[in-house]
Amino acid sequence: MDAALADAPVTAQQVLRTVFGYGAFRGQQQAIVEHAIDGGDALVLMPTGGGKSLCYQVPAIVRHARGQGVAVVVSPLIALMHDQVGALEELGVHAAFLNSTLEGDEARRVERELLSGRLVLLSAAPERILTPRFLAMLDSLHERGALSLFAIDEAHCVSQWGHDFREEYLGLSLLHERYADVPRLALTATADAHTRADIQARLQLQAARVFVASFDRANIRYTIVEKTDPRQQLLRFLREEHDGDAGIVYCQTRRKVEETADWLAAQGLAALPYHAGLDAGQRRRNQERFLREEGLVMVATIAFGMGIDKPDVRFVAHLDLPKNIEGYYQETGRAGRDGMPADAWMAYGLADVVNQRRMIDDSEAEEDFKRLQRGKLDALLALAEAHDCRRVRLLAYFGETYAPAGDAGRPHSNCGNCDNCLHPPQSWDATEAARKALSCIYRFQQQHGFGFGAGHLIDVLRGKSTDKVLQRGHERLSTFGIGTDLGEAQWRGVLRQLLAAGHIRSVGEYNTLELAESARAVLRGEVPIHLRVAAEAPARPGRAARGTLRGSGARPAAPPLALDEAGLARFAALKAWRGEVAREHNLPAYIVFHDATLAEMAREQPTTLQALAAIGGVGEKKLAAYGEQILRVLAARSQSS
Ligand code: ADP
Ligand code: ZN
Repeated sequence: MDAALADAPVTAQQVLRTVFGYGAFRGQQQAIVEHAIDGGDALVLMPTGGGKSLCYQVPAIVRHARGQGVAVVVSPLIALMHDQVGALEELGVHAAFLNSTLEGDEARRVERELLSGRLVLLSAAPERILTPRFLAMLDSLHERGALSLFAIDEAHCVSQWGHDFREEYLGLSLLHERYADVPRLALTATADAHTRADIQARLQLQAARVFVASFDRANIRYTIVEKTDPRQQLLRFLREEHDGDAGIVYCQTRRKVEETADWLAAQGLAALPYHAGLDAGQRRRNQERFLREEGLVMVATIAFGMGIDKPDVRFVAHLDLPKNIEGYYQETGRAGRDGMPADAWMAYGLADVVNQRRMIDDSEAEEDFKRLQRGKLDALLALAEAHDCRRVRLLAYFGETYAPAGDAGRPHSNCGNCDNCLHPPQSWDATEAARKALSCIYRFQQQHGFGFGAGHLIDVLRGKSTDKVLQRGHERLSTFGIGTDLGEAQWRGVLRQLLAAGHIRSVGEYNTLELAESARAVLRGEVPIHLRVAAEAPARPGRAARGTLRGSGARPAAPPLALDEAGLARFAALKAWRGEVAREHNLPAYIVFHDATLAEMAREQPTTLQALAAIGGVGEKKLAAYGEQILRVLAARSQSS
């Protein structure tokens, strides 16, 4: 802690301004921070990018300055501790971490620092905290009144309900039993009620105040396209919308990850693979490069993701359907943590529905669990097939009514920043087409006692006399050739949507299609079916045409960052400077300054230190360390232009 800050009394507001360089708290941050400073326990539910770290960092700094000792942050994300601590040191906050990556000597040095009372914040993995050695140190700090608070990050890891369960997290209730008077903050971006109840029970936080932020990620634009030629669709999306941007492409299998990464690289994109089958060294190197270099595309299975808190991930693309809305929300949530415009893009088709259903059917799980998984998949399919606002549906799934800030809490039905709101889809009356498909399946089942796959079904509907059709005598079926009015792609769309709605299901090894109970009513014409018109979304103007750093006018929810050509050149010069500093300090560039901060500098062109200090994200320490250099970079640009 800098000497200047050590002069009490220090307030949360001062710390926010002088240490972090931010003008105002966001949402509930202030209430949470004040509650913790006053010694209260809290459970904080906030989406990714919502600003959870500040919720414990500010109280840690304030309480330390008031002589209340060190904050201990529990985190499972060992790989990120180095960078997170580096970021705090960049801000002038004395912090350290303890985990298995430290050599004995270094670990002992950190322990001495901890016991000395100089540390403001210590990050440690849960297994480390629960060792007798570490607990003895906590005891000693506690006796001296030098434990300021515990922050339990990624608190959903304590719940078996979620997918990130960590055995060691269960042991953390001990912190409460041993140090009942030390305030605890548990933080997570996992929203569902079941996980929340688990966290409260298992960490003994029943009496804690619960803060639930809105889970809307206003800067993320949701787009779900019909899968026609996925690689080309992806390539077009990357080239037209995200040239030179960092982002993640999720695929379901390791093989697809490798093939897609190779293919993108062959198209000239900087793409790297990541999946659990790569050896640990390779995985670490690829992750490290993604964090440190700019503009890399990571093609990955969902093994990649937890704790990727790189703020400038500009897009998350899904080439395969996630398992459920929780997964979709969590994966897409890795985009745009810095609050600048970002895309969540997914290509989805018939095979996705079939595969995901198959995976559930084939799993070894109990029937109850399978039923739950099917229900969750159905909710995701309904989102994918929706004609109305994706954001409204997404939030509704988490029990939230979409009521954007700034409109007195009034609910909205149109977010203006998803594909369906921006380009409302056309729909067509597909009742007849659906009945044709269903009656064809019915004939199959009647004749053979089983169904056939989508490809064959479509051939019969379209009246194609393939070998298989002739072999089976299907050219004699009354449904042969009744669907020549629709193309193959349209039929696939019809089948996909019937599958998604649960009127048909795919079964067995060959994914044959069979009627579900609800098909009867459709066959009788009692259920009208309206389908979206299978069409690519109209091409959006490319980045150049939009003329700005992606955004301003074109993206209503995004912070205004309009930069003209000279501004973009200044922005580029600042980024180049930042790259050098980051390399020198062995830290990711965004830890030196965020894109948003550099963009604001490029726009405002401050010429004095005082003016520079007013830019969001420039605190006292960074102003002192880098202020003169930044002014020189800006001055050089203004002379050269
Ligand atoms: P989370 O952990 O909830 O995903 P972070 O704590 O990483 O989110 O914060 C996301 C980003 O928002 C960070 O870049 C952080 O610096 C920024 N941020 C947080 N609070 C504020 C604030 N009050 N004003 C401006 N930026 C903020
Ligand atoms: Zn919308």
